[in-house]
Parts: sequence; C-alpha cells; structure tokens
Amino acid sequence: MFRLPPILICLLLLTATRLFGAGEWSLLKRDGRDYVTLDNVGQFYQLGPIQRTGNNLILNTGNRSLRGQVGSPEFYINNLKFVLSYPVAEINGRPSISRMDLTKLLEPVLRPSRIQNFTKVDTVILDPGHGGQDNGATSLFGSEKNYSLDVALRAREILKNSGFRVIMTRTTDRFVPLEERATIASRYPNALFISIHFNSSGNDASGVETYTLAPRGVPSMATDGPALSDLIPCPGNQRDAENIALACAAHATLVYNSSMFDRGIKRARFVVLRDNATPGVLIEGGFLSNSNDARRIATPMYRQQMATSILQAVQNYRNAVGPRQSLPVASNNIPTANPNSTGPVVITSSQAQPVEKTAAP
Ligand SMILES: [Zn+2]
Repeated sequence: MFRLPPILICLLLLTATRLFGAGEWSLLKRDGRDYVTLDNVGQFYQLGPIQRTGNNLILNTGNRSLRGQVGSPEFYINNLKFVLSYPVAEINGRPSISRMDLTKLLEPVLRPSRIQNFTKVDTVILDPGHGGQDNGATSLFGSEKNYSLDVALRAREILKNSGFRVIMTRTTDRFVPLEERATIASRYPNALFISIHFNSSGNDASGVETYTLAPRGVPSMATDGPALSDLIPCPGNQRDAENIALACAAHATLVYNSSMFDRGIKRARFVVLRDNATPGVLIEGGFLSNSNDARRIATPMYRQQMATSILQAVQNYRNAVGPRQSLPVASNNIPTANPNSTGPVVITSSQAQPVEKTAAP
C-alpha cells in the first residue's frame, strides 16, 4: 500500500477541508458516553464507506485515510499513530468512536483551518526537560538533561534563523521547577510551547512519542484513571484544538525525519502542558533505556535532526492552522465535546485549578 509521508499530513488535510459537505450526526450511547459511528465520520469528512476485515477498519479516499480496530484505542490518520481517549467501540454492530475523540482529535486534525480564535505564532518557547540535580533518564552515553538542552539550543539557532523569536525555560544545566516553566510560557502571547524529553523504561520499549494535554473529562494516559480530577478544566484546555494540531505537526516531522518507531500521540496532564494556556506539546525523542535508541540519541546528527523537526513542525503548524482563504467558520453540525454527556462544557480560566502533580516523564 502506498505510504504517505506523515510530514505531509497537515497540509493535505488542510486541502481536504475544502471538500467539506454538510452532514448530520447521530449520537449513540455506551457506558454513559456519546459515540458517533465511523460510517457517519466517513460521510461527514467524505472519506467513503468503511472497509472492514474482521475488527480492522479502514476509511480511505486515496490521499487520506483513517485506520483503526474495534476494541483498540490506537488509531491512524494517514499512517500517523494517535491514541484515542477511548477505544473504538462496536455499538449495535456499528464501529464507533467517542464524541470526545471526534471533537477533540479528528475535527481539529482533519480541519485545522477551522480552528477558531487560534494563536498567531511568532514566538517559540523551548523547554529542555530536567536540569541541575535532576538528570532525568540516563544511558551509558549521557543524560536526558544534557540531550534535551542540546536539542533546544540547536532548535533555537535554526528557529531564530527562520525569523522566530525564541524563549527558553533554561539555557544552562540548572534545575527549573515545572511550575516555573509553565509560568515562563504564560508570559508570551503568540507563542507555541515545546517541551523536549527522552524516555526511559524497564523493558525493550523504543521509539518516539508526543504528548499533549488531555481534554477535560478524559483520563490522562500517564496515570491510572479515570479520576474525578479529570473533570476539572486546566488553563491549557483553552487550547485543546491547537494542542492536538501542534501534536500532529510535531509528531509527524519527528516520525518522518527519524524513521524511529511511532509510539503515537498521547494525552497527559503534565504540569508544563496543564498550567499554561499556550498551545503546547511534550516530545519524547527516544528511549535512553534502549541500546539502539540511546546510541542514536548520543549522536549530534540525531539531535540536529530533532531540532530541524521542531522547526518544520512549527512551520507546518503555522501553515495549517487558521483560515487560508475566506473559509466558513467551524460547522455547528459538529457535536460539542461533553464529558458529562448532559450538555455543552463551558471552560473558563477562572475555573482552572491544578489537578495533578504529575511530573513530565
Ligand atoms: Zn523527561
């Protein structure tokens, strides 16, 4: 099967927005949660009928594809992996996804040009993870705190050369509390926030993954859940649509440029994403606990490639989000995301409270 370079996703999906035709949504219930059928998704986004083999599902128009599996949260958009907040369900014999995943993932990723009140971007805030006494993960070759700083310094250089203003939460080997990093980010309008980390695990895990803030009402994938605290809005939830669009752009360039294993785009409430209202992501550039990943991360070439991926992600994001021409605003036909299934969620900054003290990995 022809494999579309993920780096092209956002721009191709942007083109797709012009193919939009109005449609109706039928809501189904499962475990008190709203779902829509993937047939309905296919009709609305003009992706054609579902091709089903056993539990495997494909919607494919040639240059755009959705792929998933009944019972699994893993979901691919143009071969880029996303982890849904809830697994694909089969309801009355019809494969369906949650309304939350439709409104907070599919819609902003498939139609980024319709994101409303989007932040114009002239500034990039780079957040090298860990520092000082906090080494983060380590390998035989080095530590996460040094690698993340090195990638950020390289990215600062090429972002500046491309005309962006760059702010860094640290430029030396020093400890910066997570809350302070979020506070620094909150000072700058017209910015994107990119936190840079490397992973560690006790097993043979490898590859790259990208985290963005969990929408209100869905469990964090980095903690056991769901929890009551999932219902409390965070400052970062003001940017849900931009967050997932940025995650798409960042993850696509990271996966495509590195050819590392694609672990997907995931949701969490890390302090640095939760407590700042700047569109943000946290990228994990491989596992220092895996010998192959660790060797690559130890090379300046790989870290330069990560820096280049960050620049390309910012450029792709800026090109994809917001109206390109006089496109109509987002359709009222899209159901509003609603974690309580009783009415539209109203999220205001005055309601925002810290809900987790989860450290970035
Ligand atoms: Zn880390």
